[in-house]
Amino acid sequence: MSTRILLVEDEPSLAESLRISLQLEGYEVILAHSGSEAIRQAREQRLDLVILDVMLPELDGFAVCSALRTASARLPILFLTVRNSSSDKTRGFRLGADDYLTKPFDLDELLLRIRALLRRTQGLARASATDVFRFGGNEINFSSFTARGVGGKEFRLTQREAALLRLLVDRRNEVVSRKEILETVWGYDVMPTTRTIDNFIVAFRKYFEPDPRKPRYFQSIRGVGYRFVMND
Ligand code: CA
Repeated sequence: MSTRILLVEDEPSLAESLRISLQLEGYEVILAHSGSEAIRQAREQRLDLVILDVMLPELDGFAVCSALRTASARLPILFLTVRNSSSDKTRGFRLGADDYLTKPFDLDELLLRIRALLRRTQGLARASATDVFRFGGNEINFSSFTARGVGGKEFRLTQREAALLRLLVDRRNEVVSRKEILETVWGYDVMPTTRTIDNFIVAFRKYFEPDPRKPRYFQSIRGVGYRFVMND
């Protein structure tokens, strides 16, 4: 099954040249020239990734992003826009975008980012086929994004929480660097501070550690990274 990309771009010549470049890379491309058309296409088609302009007729890209994100938690969304202020970027990420590239852009960089996004989500999908991971009395279900933690309490995981858990668990007993975590789980270099990762780790300890103040499983190695420790 070919990888299908929805390209939302109202500027005809850019849309056309991008479509050709993406097809040369082997992607199947669906074009949408307006926000409402994008939402309609997303409803009707199986999509693997969305490239989304911001300034569009009818609905703008931000509105499209939040609609797509509501419909699917996993669909990778990459903003491609002339809007380059950090408040626009922040807004895009808050609405659930996975990446943000500003015009004018370098085609090679766009293609690399697309590949990275697809690798992440496809890796997650592959992993999730069977995937229940148990440690201590805890259980993480990577397919349903649910978990059972301390005291048998069940709860939902966000996509990012699941991705970070996946990375740490796959590399158990190894220190995973902050840089690698940011690249793998966030995939872009601007937004999250290392503080963001700390917040996730604090949450994991609350979910899964008998004593969150004396973490047994989720350890931070000051200035280096994080380690999921499991001895059995
Ligand atoms: Ca536009």
